[in-house]
Amino acid sequence: MLPNRCSISERGRQCPNPPEFIVTVTSDNSDEYMLGVTCDKHRQNVLGEVLRLQKDKKIVDGRVGFTPVKSVGTDCIRSDADEFVQIDAPSSPSSPLSSSSSPA
Ligand SMILES: [Zn+2]
Repeated sequence: MLPNRCSISERGRQCPNPPEFIVTVTSDNSDEYMLGVTCDKHRQNVLGEVLRLQKDKKIVDGRVGFTPVKSVGTDCIRSDADEFVQIDAPSSPSSPLSSSSSPA
């Protein structure tokens, strides 16, 4: 579930904008951490804040990324899920992908 607002607060007031980017940090061992969401206007604020927190060792070190929220729409998630299932499937003993599915 994503927050429906930008995570940034200015002088105690939360930004009312809808989130446009998911802020993530990818650590050296490829673990991805979602830190929050931000609107386009506050991207630089968030980046600066994340870098500061990393410097203070408050959050995990790694590469900061901004993923557009729109790209994680339900359609994308559904097709990705199919791929995950295939990837996760235990090594099926050398069966060609479409051997039994074609009605010939
Ligand atoms: Zn904002």
